[in-house]
Amino acid sequence: MDSNSKEIILKGIPASPGICHGNAMLFAQSHIDIPIYDIDAEVIEKEKERFEKALITTREEIFQIRDQVSKSLGEDEALIFDAHLMVLEDNALITEILQHLEQNKKNVEYSFNEVVERYINFFKTIEDEYLRERVSDIKDVSRRVLNNLLGETKTGNDSKHQTRIIVSEDITPSQAVGFDKSNLQGFITNSGGATSHFVIMSRSFKIPAVVGLHNATEKIKHNDYILIDGYQGLVFINPTANTIVEYNKIASKQLQIERTFEEELVEKTETLDGHSIELMANIEASDDISESVQNNFDGIGLFRTESIFLKKNGVPSEDEQFKEYASVVQNTNGKPVIIRTLDIGGDKLINGVHDDSFLGLRAIRFCLENLTIFKTQLRAILRASVFGDVKIMYPMISGVEELDKANHIFNEVKDALLAEGIAFNPNIEVGAMIELPSAVSIIDLLAKKVDFFSVGTNDLIQYLMAVDRMDDRVSHLYQPTHPAVLRSLKTIFEKSDDSNKHVSVCGEMAGEPIYTALLIGLGAKSLSVSVSRLPEVKHYIRLMNLGELRELVKELLTLDQAEPIEQKLNAFLEKL
Ligand code: PEP
Ligand code: MG
Repeated sequence: MDSNSKEIILKGIPASPGICHGNAMLFAQSHIDIPIYDIDAEVIEKEKERFEKALITTREEIFQIRDQVSKSLGEDEALIFDAHLMVLEDNALITEILQHLEQNKKNVEYSFNEVVERYINFFKTIEDEYLRERVSDIKDVSRRVLNNLLGETKTGNDSKHQTRIIVSEDITPSQAVGFDKSNLQGFITNSGGATSHFVIMSRSFKIPAVVGLHNATEKIKHNDYILIDGYQGLVFINPTANTIVEYNKIASKQLQIERTFEEELVEKTETLDGHSIELMANIEASDDISESVQNNFDGIGLFRTESIFLKKNGVPSEDEQFKEYASVVQNTNGKPVIIRTLDIGGDKLINGVHDDSFLGLRAIRFCLENLTIFKTQLRAILRASVFGDVKIMYPMISGVEELDKANHIFNEVKDALLAEGIAFNPNIEVGAMIELPSAVSIIDLLAKKVDFFSVGTNDLIQYLMAVDRMDDRVSHLYQPTHPAVLRSLKTIFEKSDDSNKHVSVCGEMAGEPIYTALLIGLGAKSLSVSVSRLPEVKHYIRLMNLGELRELVKELLTLDQAEPIEQKLNAFLEKL
């Protein structure tokens, strides 16, 4: 901490709760923190060797991905990786990097990045469209080489081992899964919203985050001392000793509150007036299932399988997937596990296999276009179904035709397993996520084709209000208490009841106590929330009176704007 620097406070969107303070690590534009240091003449040869090793590893990686993509998507899609290999083997580029290294006597990552940036800037100015498009190939390859170089220096004397607060323009889910959590204290980003997928991940990692700060990367310098208040969305640059003392007090109070939540863990999840609520966990991987999740809650209401793909930055094999699914199922003591099929696309991007539009080839749409990937996943899930109470769920269902197609493929996969003599649960339940306005309107029709529903409020709000959940500029329009959201949810609960279908809510709303109250008042009997939120949500449910809540929600449904609804819910919670 620099005692001469002035404290500056920035206000952003509170994304993941908690308080932390430490040094900032600025992610460069490329999202890779590139160290710069002088090297002695005798180290040059060693740096060259490191570079050569990184090139070999990168070549192997690209060959591997090429092979996977060729198998899963076909040879045409795999051709892009030939272009990547050509970049990697470009003699002119390699010679220039080595010359830069020798002349400037700086570490190889720096020399590599300087030369590659020069190439990128040159290609950007070229008129020929084909050549201009090679910029993304160069960027992709350079990111890989840098990652391999930096992976190696991790054990060296650079700053990677210190715990850090990451400051970046944005963070992708695949970057979030790649961070070493033991070295991570908090996240600060210029863009993003409260339900961006990396934010959901930071909540499950229990790492405080503030997003949507617009210009944090300009205001914060590498190594600045930073304090994050993830409850209120505040970031302090050079906090005073007084601020740190005050926040340390708040943090220890918070710890006490969490301890009281933990004392209630063994109690039933039911309202004050005796109505039970099913409370399940949202997980990203089998590691998320603690003993407490196993013993004190009702199973896994949402297993987001994307993280297995994101960690691999490619398509995992059937066996790799099977191992992860089986481990989740075996960890849940026979309680239900809802495994959601791949929801890739939007902000969840994997190398060579994705569409970055939330309205494009995302989730079930992507799977129905990439049947090899879809079928491989369905086989792996079915094989894991013999270990417990597995259910399968499709994301982003928009209509009956799509659901029929998915079910048809599912039946084909079951038949194939049967013919191969591979065991699975033939009565496995199939569900659909309700997260599109079209699905809400025809929920009675969808009910004829599935066994259960789960409401994805993160996307439902995004699509209902046409508000990109990632875009901080419109985050004020992302309103969980908008009357249209309330009416949609009411319809979902009523129609599911009419059709006798179990319905749960697995969007982030369910884990936010004021919205937990709203959902229960509207008719929700089952919720699934991020693991870090489970104790708090249980605590609040046990304080709520359902009769009173129903009355309150009746009144809320007569209001015409989000703000007064939010205020009344806050007042209700404060009373508790
Ligand atoms: C949702 O949309 O509410 C949901 C639970 O799915 P995801 O956040 O993974 O899109
Ligand atoms: Mg969703």
